[in-house]
Formats: sequence, C-alpha cells, structure tokens
Amino acid sequence: MYIHSELIPMKTMIFEARNTGYAVGQFNINGLQWAKAILQAAEEEESPIILAASDRLIEFLGGFRTIVGMVKGLVEDMAVTVPVALHLDHGMSVERCKAAIDAGFSSVMFDGSRLPIEKNIEMTKKVVEYAKSKGVSVEAEVGTVGGMEDGLIGNVNYADPIECIRLVEETNVDALAAALGSVHGPYQGEPKLGFKEMEYISKKVGIPLVLHGGSGIPVPLIQKAITLGHAKINVNTECTQAWSAVTRDIFMKNKETYDPQMLLTPGQQAIKSVVKEKIREFGSQQRVHSQIQR
Ligand code: 13P
Repeated sequence: MYIHSELIPMKTMIFEARNTGYAVGQFNINGLQWAKAILQAAEEEESPIILAASDRLIEFLGGFRTIVGMVKGLVEDMAVTVPVALHLDHGMSVERCKAAIDAGFSSVMFDGSRLPIEKNIEMTKKVVEYAKSKGVSVEAEVGTVGGMEDGLIGNVNYADPIECIRLVEETNVDALAAALGSVHGPYQGEPKLGFKEMEYISKKVGIPLVLHGGSGIPVPLIQKAITLGHAKINVNTECTQAWSAVTRDIFMKNKETYDPQMLLTPGQQAIKSVVKEKIREFGSQQRVHSQIQR
C-alpha cells in the first residue's frame, strides 16, 4: 500500500488489465459526490480506477482546473492508495484535449467518430503528439456509439475493422473505442454487440479496446467483451439512475427537508454501491498490487 496524490496515465492500467484478462472501469463524474463515491468504492475494492469528465460537462463541473483540483484534493484528503486516472471523455476538439492535458488530466479521448476517417486520423495524431510529450494517454473512437449522452442523441454506426486498424497503426493511440452496437443510456431490449468483429479488431490492433455504454449490458456479455479484448468499460447511466432513485425517494418521503447532507449523502452511497458491483463484474478488484509493481 502507498499514499499518493499523482494521477496515473490510464495506459499503464489498461495494458496490465488486457494482459491479465480483466477491465478497469471508467466512471463519469457529475459532481463532487460522484468523485467521492467512485474513489471510496475503488479504495474498498482495492481496484485501479478511471474517473472521467465528459467534455460537454466540463463547464458545468467548474472547468478543467477545478476538476483536476477536486480529484487530486480528494485523492490526498481521503488518503487514496489505489491508482487513479483522470480522463477527458469524448473530447470534442484538439484544443479541448490540449486544455485538459495542460490542466493536469492524465488521459484524454479525442472523439473524431463523426468525422471522415482521414480527418479523424489527422486530428487524433495531433492529440497523440501533444499528449505523448507530457506522458498522457490517448483514446480514439471509430464508428458511433448510439443512444443519448448528456442531452445528445445519436444512432449506432458499427466501426469498420479496416478503419480501426488504419487509425491505430497511423496514430499510435493507447486505447480504441470501436463502436460495435453499444449505446449510451438505457438499452431497448438486449444489446446486440458485434462479438465477431470485436475479436477480429482486438487481434489486429493489439491495444486495449474500450466499451462505451457499459450500463445495462448483462454480465455474461460484459465478460465476453472482456475476454475479446475490452480492458476499459465506461459507466455513467447506472450511477446516475441509482443516485436519482434514492434522492427522489428522500424528497418524496421528507417533503419538509432542506438539509443538503440528508439529501446528498444517501445518493453518494447509492453511486458507491453501483461502482463496487461494476468493479467486481469487470474483475478489477484486488488488482492494485500487480498494478503498483509495474
Ligand atoms: P452509459 O451512460 O451508458 O453507462 O455510458 C457511459 C459512457 O460510455 C461514457 O463514455
């Protein structure tokens, strides 16, 4: 065990996870209570952890520097001993990724999935060049994850395996989100994940795959995705659903209350329970030792 205040590049965590056969969870933060809950869960489970802020929520959360300050401060004040990465989720431009890196994020995603592949590669390369000079990890996306995220709705667009291979070879990214049927937000029926494509892409690219839309996927499918190369799984909706259900219930039962702690603390506990459950499903519990010794 060791005490640290440094944020760790996610590359270190997820390559180890891919080689060993588990996945590290990325949990999105929507405020201080989320960050605390996620760190508490990781500490109790002795799991490496990735906290993420979605680009569309950066200003809502106070700005890049506020987020870095909050997470680093919590790591110190809570005496967190597990490896923690802070990741920019769905970075919208090269400039936004650079701003996150300059503020102290240890990992960024450049989301060029809506661009033609040539442009996606060109922009991803620029982010990688800047990030690598500062020891920061980079994730890229090919194809489109469907569903609703932070108020935006998109359709599923399966990743083209040839484009995935090209992007990884030409950009030298650390992780690839290849959209293969997962969606952000709740699923309508059983998710239809492209396992054949997953296996092929994972073998060809040789780097960890990232599963976006990790909420609501049945455990056997999650575990199959891990055996087929997914070493990072992103979760947001299940945490926010748990938080809102508990908070709504308290409001309904205690109509007169105005004590913020009474309202916010149970919501935090609910997030923590979801994160702990996910950590076990992904198999990242009690993995700290092998991670730290690298
Ligand atoms: P969910 O909200 O569906 O869990 O997806 C989270 C995600 O993929 C963040 O990038």
